[in-house]
Amino acid sequence: MIPWEILRSQLGEERVITNPTLCRAMASDASFYHLIPQAVVYPRSESDIQALFQFSQTEQIPLTFRAAGTSLSGQAISEGILVGLARDWRSFEVLNAGEQVSFQPGVVAGHLNAALKPCGRKIGPDPASINACMMGGVLANNASGMCCGVAQNAYHTLASLRFILPSGHLLDTSDPDAEQLFEAELPELAKELRLMRQEIHEHPALLQLIRQKYRQKNTMGYSLNAFVDFETPLEILSHLLIGSEGTLAFISKAVLNTVADARLKMTGLLVFQDIQSACYAIPSLSTLGAQAIELMDRASLRAIELQTELEWIQALPEAAAALLVEFQAHEETSLHSLQAQLEDLLKSWPLLAATEFTRDQKKQAELWKIRKGLFPSVGAVRAQGTTVIIEDFAVSLEVLAEAVTELQELFQRYAYQEAIIFGHAKDGNLHFVITQSFNQPDQIQRYHDFMADLVAMIVSKFQGALKAEHGTGRNMAPFVETEWGPEAYALFKRLKKLIDPMGFLNPGVILNDDSQAHVQNLKTLPVIEAVVDQCIECGFCEKQCPSRNLSLTPRQRIVLRREMQRLKHDPAQAGLLKVLQEDYPYYALDTCATDGLCALACPVKIDTGLLVKQLRSESCSDFKQAMALRMAKQFPLLEKSLRLGLQWGKWGHHTLGTHRINQLKKLFLDALFDLPDWPPEWPEPKPWQPLAVSNLSADAVYFSSCITRNLGYEAENPLPEVLHRLCKKAGIKLADIPMGHCCGLPFGSKGLHEAGNYLRNQSIDMLWQHSDFGRLPVLVDNSPCTWQLLSQPEGLNPENQSRIQKLRIIDSIVFALEFLLPNLKLQPIHAKAWVHPVCSVQKMGIEDQLLSLVSACVTQAEIPQAAGCCGFAGDRGYWVPELTQSALKDEASALELQSSADFYCSSSRTCELGLERATQKAWHSYLYLLDRVSEA
Ligand SMILES: Cc1cc2nc3c(=O)[nH]c(=O)nc-3n(C[C@H](O)[C@H](O)[C@H](O)COP(=O)(O)OP(=O)(O)OC[C@H]3O[C@@H](n4cnc5c(N)ncnc54)[C@H](O)[C@@H]3O)c2cc1C
Ligand code: SF4
Ligand code: SF4
Repeated sequence: MIPWEILRSQLGEERVITNPTLCRAMASDASFYHLIPQAVVYPRSESDIQALFQFSQTEQIPLTFRAAGTSLSGQAISEGILVGLARDWRSFEVLNAGEQVSFQPGVVAGHLNAALKPCGRKIGPDPASINACMMGGVLANNASGMCCGVAQNAYHTLASLRFILPSGHLLDTSDPDAEQLFEAELPELAKELRLMRQEIHEHPALLQLIRQKYRQKNTMGYSLNAFVDFETPLEILSHLLIGSEGTLAFISKAVLNTVADARLKMTGLLVFQDIQSACYAIPSLSTLGAQAIELMDRASLRAIELQTELEWIQALPEAAAALLVEFQAHEETSLHSLQAQLEDLLKSWPLLAATEFTRDQKKQAELWKIRKGLFPSVGAVRAQGTTVIIEDFAVSLEVLAEAVTELQELFQRYAYQEAIIFGHAKDGNLHFVITQSFNQPDQIQRYHDFMADLVAMIVSKFQGALKAEHGTGRNMAPFVETEWGPEAYALFKRLKKLIDPMGFLNPGVILNDDSQAHVQNLKTLPVIEAVVDQCIECGFCEKQCPSRNLSLTPRQRIVLRREMQRLKHDPAQAGLLKVLQEDYPYYALDTCATDGLCALACPVKIDTGLLVKQLRSESCSDFKQAMALRMAKQFPLLEKSLRLGLQWGKWGHHTLGTHRINQLKKLFLDALFDLPDWPPEWPEPKPWQPLAVSNLSADAVYFSSCITRNLGYEAENPLPEVLHRLCKKAGIKLADIPMGHCCGLPFGSKGLHEAGNYLRNQSIDMLWQHSDFGRLPVLVDNSPCTWQLLSQPEGLNPENQSRIQKLRIIDSIVFALEFLLPNLKLQPIHAKAWVHPVCSVQKMGIEDQLLSLVSACVTQAEIPQAAGCCGFAGDRGYWVPELTQSALKDEASALELQSSADFYCSSSRTCELGLERATQKAWHSYLYLLDRVSEA
């Protein structure tokens, strides 16, 4: 028995998790391997890490670090302790006007680039996962991407590193005395590293091999080039840690030298008759200075051809291949001279098709959509229950065409019909994607045999690297010796033994004595709910989920559904299944805000909120569904009772106090209704009567949401009146629709679909009539309601499905920009405003419009970098207040750190109430601000 209480006493009770449900939720990274940790631990400080090292060695239990868990080779999963870094370790600082950046391992890589952008700089490493992965993983995998090549990876741009060795020693290479301290504290280690360096330098063949291998991208084994590129033991050691996949030390902080972020870009797609012609063109494009040259075989183009506007791709012959090429520059003149040279070059090639080399950002985005959509497109169309396998090798440019052709033959031999090949051709670095299941032994054997042939081809025939970017992991560990040969392999083993003698850091990764390790612990993906079956467990959705630090992330919700499905087939695991089934409702369902932000980040567009709504719906009894439908049918009456309740509540709050009123509620109401405690911030609803304007003379129809009608106040000022006043100032006539309608969101989000759909259909019926059958635009004043009316046409009856296409339902933000702003006279005030774009605003892609509206009113308007989903989810924040607290922790501390603002603006009343609770600031609709600065 592992004495977890010892660790808990050192790290804190809530930081050591052994609950089987939560441990199983962390059993997946983005690879096709699956290992269940015995505990998940969230250390906060370097002393926590030292305590963990001590514990691991005393209890003989291994440790694996996990940053964002987007690794593809199985290096971020563990059977021992999985050490989560995503909850803390997130501070960073831009240094020397952006020339350098320092950071902790839990910082999302893309956040660094956002912070560096104003300085015209970016970090060198540019993995495609940059907006999801974290810097600990970027460094420990030595990740790279389309433009970074070898020269700009973390190894070559490292300025300093702070790390902890398994012995507990903390070293920081930014310390001017670091070398002396290292020699003094760890003389044996320093001596041995020096000796290894000497041995390598005295072995010409090995020296030559190392130099040759690191001329191109290579993440197989340890970064032996450190012995060649550096002299002092500490410099060697710190560079050995880059790409060491958490098997040698814990990286607690690093400083990278940044690279210039070119302002100007010119992008084009070139199609060749065959892969050979495409490959022969690469060196000339490279010599001309192309920053990105992405190769796509015909199968890749086929996988994406229906999703692009370039319809001619569908007509390309079977052997065709394309290069997506981008040139970048800081000066206009450089691009002009390039353009001329490029035209000459293109004339010399027999191209099947080519787009112009464009500077238009929209056209560039359309071209990159083709390349970036490849992996997800295969993931999204794969057969149910199959796994996506992505491999990543590099060969020299001279043999690239031959390697692609041979690989295509291998796919034929092993019947991987859907396989695609693409990648960073400039670096000879290719990826391929295949899909298959691991449910049957013959399927595993098929993968095993395919890999044997692949390894022989890449290593023996082309002297390439089996992994160029994604790390050795478990996937290629059995082949490190095959690729590097026995002498280099002996050095790898000696290094590991020297630094981690007990072998407790990420065992089985990079080095593995088991020649079959790559076909063990394979992940099966049992079929579950159709809305999430296409999930590839990549983890891209995790960083924006409001419940990520409280309960589960979207990926983990899906991982657990799959785990329950696996357990159902194993009678011996019935007890465990029961535990998971009991835990799932709170961790997965109650704490999901169903905001659907996960879908924005998901490469296959999965909205895990839909899964949650479906499961909530299934858990609602028929009686509850029927009751909800009855209430929906009596919505005007329900609204009146609600207003009465609010008035009584407010009266009770003033006369008896919040505590007493909650006691009374518990005594009399809790047995009958599921009600939250009285929220003291709720305003007293005042009667607001819609104005009877004929739609014949109106410019727009006003759909005031039930939330705004009843809770939308700033002091005594109801929002509908503010909107009317603004419209009057702008000379716009609004026709109100009557009270007693609702978009259905309060019901639908709880899984009460029939009631939700009833109300939504009723609202569309009414909007159809009032908008003069779609002639007038419909303004909605609460963003989640706008989204609800517009999204998910499945819940609408056929008539309304066709009406919704003709109706122009617009959010107040779009309305204000289009109808109000051009007709208002504004007197902007000298003030600062914080802007919170709620989830529905993000989903509608109108956060910039919201910011520009607020910017028109004040001298300084800002969206906090930490702004995400508030987790309030309409009313969920009243039942699960910890969700809002957790979701807004970062934003609240960001607001606390900054000097306070004069206005706090949003466009959803319930989110504003949640924001108020978490930040202790008064949040209101931006429309109040617009009203205040606009002249009558
Ligand atoms: C769709 C998709 C596309 C991808 N594209 C690319 C690409 O273009 N290029 C590329 O290189 N990779 C790519 N990857 C793989 C992966 O995203 C990157 O390698 C990324 O850098 C991993 O970062 P992470 O935060 O997810 O690390 P994790 O997966 O959490 O961890 C990676 C490794 O780092 C170790 N580690 C983490 N933190 C520390 C620390 N503080 N100290 C020591 N060790 C630590 C872990 O133990 C693990 O071995 C892709 C992945 C996906 C799913
Ligand atoms: S809907 Fe929101 S809370 Fe639910 S899983 Fe997705 S991001 Fe997380
Ligand atoms: S839901 Fe989407 S983003 Fe999240 S893990 Fe699955 S595929 Fe990746």
